[in-house]
Amino acid sequence: MSPVSAPLRLSLDGDALVANWRALDAMSGSASCGAAVKADGYGLGAAEVTQRLAEAGCRDFFVASWNEALALRERELPSLTVLHGVRAEDMPLALAGFARPALSSVAQVRRWREAGGGACDVMVDTGMNRLGISIDDVTSGLLDGLTIDTLMSHLACADEDVPMNARQRDAFAGLRGRTGARRMSLANSAGIALGADYHFDLTRPGIALYGGIQCAAHAAQIRQVVFPQAQILQRRRVKVGETVGYNATWTAAEDTEVAILNIGYADGYLRCFSGKGGAHSGDRRLPVLGRVSMDLLAVGVDDAAELAEGDWIGLDYALPETAARSGLSQYELLTGLGQRFDRVWI
Ligand SMILES: *Cc1c(COP(=O)(O)O)cnc(C)c1O
Repeated sequence: MSPVSAPLRLSLDGDALVANWRALDAMSGSASCGAAVKADGYGLGAAEVTQRLAEAGCRDFFVASWNEALALRERELPSLTVLHGVRAEDMPLALAGFARPALSSVAQVRRWREAGGGACDVMVDTGMNRLGISIDDVTSGLLDGLTIDTLMSHLACADEDVPMNARQRDAFAGLRGRTGARRMSLANSAGIALGADYHFDLTRPGIALYGGIQCAAHAAQIRQVVFPQAQILQRRRVKVGETVGYNATWTAAEDTEVAILNIGYADGYLRCFSGKGGAHSGDRRLPVLGRVSMDLLAVGVDDAAELAEGDWIGLDYALPETAARSGLSQYELLTGLGQRFDRVWI
């Protein structure tokens, strides 16, 4: 615990997180629903996210790398997968058995086999050309004799209605019965909404757990989880004709009440919000004025006479709308949130 609270915080709605997982679990039909908690739980905090979802009944968790897995080791999760497989330097940790690598190259499969590794997962490439062994590798026997828990592939365009989705699904389905894998898993958040033939045995949502909405099927059910808030450091009156902030990009058309908030681009509130972002106090909309600074932000508070130094202001951060306004992806909006926030679960 830091000896003093930070002047900016992420208010994190634990009920919404769990409700989102339950909704995705229901949409996954007979498949189990896991949770991608890589990148420190998409910026929310992997330990806290994992604890809440495990209590709700989630059993399968996914991180990117072994240092992320190590941070969750003491939680003794029923199933933890390292999506980026296993490098030579990861082997001592990987053989300890608290997480499984998703073997994703021929060299990784050999490394695992030669070390006598136990149960593993395997990533197969069905067209994304990112990580994974090829379908031909599988059919030519590369995996024979391995103890495979989950055979995985990953959709390149799950958030779009394009023929590539069905091509990837069919290629993956063609591997049924070709390995000794206990389970098969294809769908991320958006993939869950593509239909039952994308669910296989296990789904792997990430962004939708945290409030991301990429398709109409999710819009009705997925709730916002992350609410950035910043404290007012100073309130001032800017006279008509005066300007606010770096490069004087905003000029007061009339006398204007301005609040200076303790948040800036070093916190992930990037310069693309300059003149475009918004905040709110109750129902009142407070526009961002001028440039976002490294650590500071100006908002107009003409409509909020009661707001004073020390009060907290909520930034507008509903993910689909904020992505559209800023040009950032919903993923970047979450994972860019920096370390200076206190992360407070409500
Ligand atoms: C990140 C990731 C996911 C989760 O994707 P979302 O789009 O956030 O739902 C699932 N599977 C793999 C392999 C991933 O890398």
